[in-house]
Amino acid sequence: MRVLLALGGNAMTNADGRARPEDQIEAARVAMAAVADLLQHDVDVVVTHGNGPQVGNLLVKNELAAAVVPPVPLDWCGAQTQATLGFVLMDALDAELGRRGIDRRTATVVTRTVVDADDPGFARPTKPIGRFLSAEEAALLVEHGETWEDRGAKGWRRVVASPEPLRIVDAPAAQALVDAGFVVIANGGGGIPVVAEPDGSLHGVEAVIDKDLGAALLAGSVDADVLVIGTDVPHAVLHYGTPEARDVGVVTVAEMRAYAADGHFASGSMGPKVEAACRFVEQGGARAVITDLAHLADAVTGASGTVVVPN
Ligand code: ADP
Ligand code: MG
Repeated sequence: MRVLLALGGNAMTNADGRARPEDQIEAARVAMAAVADLLQHDVDVVVTHGNGPQVGNLLVKNELAAAVVPPVPLDWCGAQTQATLGFVLMDALDAELGRRGIDRRTATVVTRTVVDADDPGFARPTKPIGRFLSAEEAALLVEHGETWEDRGAKGWRRVVASPEPLRIVDAPAAQALVDAGFVVIANGGGGIPVVAEPDGSLHGVEAVIDKDLGAALLAGSVDADVLVIGTDVPHAVLHYGTPEARDVGVVTVAEMRAYAADGHFASGSMGPKVEAACRFVEQGGARAVITDLAHLADAVTGASGTVVVPN
């Protein structure tokens, strides 16, 4: 069996959201212990991960150091966080595998993902990133071509395009490595967004791809049987946050689509996970599971979490 595991931001930072190096190393240790549990069984594992807090930190460095060193674009921030988180995750997983005497190697693939230059997201950016600034500070960055929005009392925040991922350029490299027995870390942060020129060349763009939608595309691209979206809640919940709240267990993709259409899943958090789970199953995946790290090993067999299955 081949499993694509998508780790949320919470799996990469402290529970309170802090992202000091020691917080990230500790979070990676916990997440990779769960991955090692999976590897006790006869499964191939490809891991992808979010990078929101890490990119946020790089953006602050860009701003504060702009007078001294040139700021780097958002696609470079994506590449840098893929490499750093890949390094941290590989170290954590290698240590855990060594402790358990499991003979598997790990590899990270810096991964580009093609988006459409005409994606509506570029004309109307919606994805908030980085820290809040004052109106004066934001105005300066608007002069440099960035889009910033007034978010009231908290201040101004940058918004960027969140285009649809179309094709994962480096998926064949990830697939070759997993076929060769490696535990592969790929497409972090949803992939580095690139657009294709008419001559076929690629160049990076200032955007962020949704990590969960990227995970669904990667899962199909590496022939995964199961997509597991690991987050900080054990289930997707209907009537979330109300007295009528009810966990979703095993559902068909048609049922899950109907719940989503009824507005049960928040657009910036659970919504993309449900969309990713549905897409993966509609495109031929056997099962997609949304759950937390504690239930990861059970999730692979379909014994816990929210499990989306074909109709
Ligand atoms: P990640 O970092 O793993 O991507 P997110 O914060 O983006 O995590 O999404 C998980 C969060 O989604 C949960 O912590 C929960 O607060 C929120 N959420 C919104 N709607 C729902 C829902 N219907 N059921 C469960 N969780 C929900
Ligand atoms: Mg999220």
